Amino acid sequence: MKRYIIIFSLLATLMATAGDVPRIYINPGHGGHDSNDRPTPFYHAILCDTITYYESDSNLLTGLSLEQYLRSNGYETAISRTGNTSDDDLDLYEIVALAANSGADLFYSIHSNATGVKTRLNYTLSLYRGYHGSPIVEGSDSIARATIKHLQANQATVWTHNPITAGDWDFFSNWGYKTGLGVLRYNKVPGMLCEGSFFDYVPERCRKLNADFCALEGWNQALAINEYFGNKGKNKTGIVAGIIRVNSERVDTAYCAFAADLLQPANSVVVQLCDKKKRPIRYYTTDRLNNGFYCFTGLEPGKYYVRLEQSDTMHAVTVRRNQSTYCNITTSPIP
Ligand SMILES: [Zn+2]
Repeated sequence: MKRYIIIFSLLATLMATAGDVPRIYINPGHGGHDSNDRPTPFYHAILCDTITYYESDSNLLTGLSLEQYLRSNGYETAISRTGNTSDDDLDLYEIVALAANSGADLFYSIHSNATGVKTRLNYTLSLYRGYHGSPIVEGSDSIARATIKHLQANQATVWTHNPITAGDWDFFSNWGYKTGLGVLRYNKVPGMLCEGSFFDYVPERCRKLNADFCALEGWNQALAINEYFGNKGKNKTGIVAGIIRVNSERVDTAYCAFAADLLQPANSVVVQLCDKKKRPIRYYTTDRLNNGFYCFTGLEPGKYYVRLEQSDTMHAVTVRRNQSTYCNITTSPIP
């Protein structure tokens, strides 16, 4: 039933098409909370409980955010799923067929990465069909490069390595001659698969439990897509995001952490966004999921200040149209 609904909505989108507005087919990877969803149970030191991260959840939050931002930019979209049941977990070839039938100008598959070994990493990986620098569909390497540029500019995280963009036939050369990624195998339009960051790096996994952090990835993907299409988007706003940390060792020391992730994220603190006259206009309370993440979206360009409710210190930020501004704050331990 779900598939008929998807096909119907695609037909409706086709009929509604006018002019040469680019159409993007979004594929939030996996679905259904089953075994191919790489379920990852882990002990959460703040919740004092074992919880399970599913890649399909964060992929969907990112994909829905990307869809929303693209539409508000004036782009047309279609998406392979908006739910997270087994029925939403479409066969890879069906996804390719739906994308082709949608008349998409760009195919964009959203995933999160894992090393599969004990070595912990965090960086953005963009893959397209073909060999390095020789995509099978022209333009696929361009959107892959724009993606790593905008995603790895995210400072509300910690990166351990430089981003990578590659052709899947080279990247997975041990899979066999011209095997590569199934979801890109029969794709005929410029397309790519984005592994936004690594969920098996536990500080990143804690960030990916925050819906707004996932939405930020979707926003940054929208910036990349907008750049790929020559900045045709109509969006006039920007965002401010960051991480609030406490100047002490993080509590979940059992897990690997690097650089600023060695500090404890600030849980349940109130972050204020103030206007240029330093008057509070927006508030964000960080969650209890041990990430310290905050984000203010839909901001008119201009000068703002970020401050913690518990502090008088004002942190000046400048918001620009179609850009992400980051402001990380490290505070004294909260008494
Ligand atoms: Zn995946």
